Amino acid sequence: MASDVLLVSLDCSSTGHPQVGKFTWDGANWLLAGVSRQRPGTSLPAEAGREHHGSFATASGYAGCPSCGASGFVRCGKCARLACWDRFWEVFRCPHCGNSGPVTGVIDAISTLGPG
Ligand SMILES: [Zn+2]
Ligand SMILES: [Zn+2]
Repeated sequence: MASDVLLVSLDCSSTGHPQVGKFTWDGANWLLAGVSRQRPGTSLPAEAGREHHGSFATASGYAGCPSCGASGFVRCGKCARLACWDRFWEVFRCPHCGNSGPVTGVIDAISTLGPG
C-alpha cells in the first residue's frame, strides 16, 4: 500500500525561502494541499530518490505559496525540483539551481529528495 501523503521540497521562487509542500493522493492525482515554511531537512522523510508518478495539481482549497502567494507550482526541467509558480508569470526562475525559462508542459512525475 503506497503512502497517500507526499512531502517534498518546494521552495519559493520569489524569495528563495525553503518550504515543504504536502501532496495528498485522491485516487487519481497528487494534489498540493498546502505549503509550509520550514527547512526540508527537518521534516522530509528519508526516502531519497524515490519517484512518484501520476498527475500533479493544486487542491481546490490550496491557499497559495506562504511566502509570495503564488497559486501554483512547477518542476524545474533542469534539476527536477519543485518551486512555487503563478500562471501569470511568463518566466520561471528556479530557486534551487538558477535555471530560468518559460513554463511548458505538465508534471507527470516528481522525485522526493531526502535531507541534505
Ligand atoms: Zn512563492
Ligand atoms: Zn532547478
